[in-house]
Amino acid sequence: MTNSSSPASARADCIFCKIVAGEIESQLVKETEDVIAFRDINPQAPLHVLVVPRRHYGDVTQLAGSDPKLLAEMVKVANAVAAEHADGQFRFIFNSGPNAGQSVFHVHGHVLGGARLGWTPA
Ligand code: 5GP
Ligand code: ZN
Repeated sequence: MTNSSSPASARADCIFCKIVAGEIESQLVKETEDVIAFRDINPQAPLHVLVVPRRHYGDVTQLAGSDPKLLAEMVKVANAVAAEHADGQFRFIFNSGPNAGQSVFHVHGHVLGGARLGWTPA
């Protein structure tokens, strides 16, 4: 029996669960057993890749509480993407909550790089 309220189950209404399932196309740059990385559709830097766990968690706090190893895996993937697609230096951002800019409620880290980045969050 499946538990549709489980934080780790795929959500029918979740755009990133659909990307993970291959139901929506994306420009994949890396994948591991537990994580995928694909280009953001609206890039804010020369390198702008989203690192997404295959399992659904709503935000980084839920992920860290449930599966800290998976969060560490995401950092590893972010580092590898920056090494392969930029100079190895990167910013890794998790927006948590609408006021912080979160618009997709399947945890994802933004890997930004490929340029000297400014600091203008507000
Ligand atoms: P958030 O605002 O939740 O931190 O980040 C969501 C990100 O997902 C945004 O930067 C947005 O451009 C990106 N995004 C939303 N829908 C899609 C999509 O269908 N494909 C891709 N590749 N990126 C998406
Ligand atoms: Zn999802």
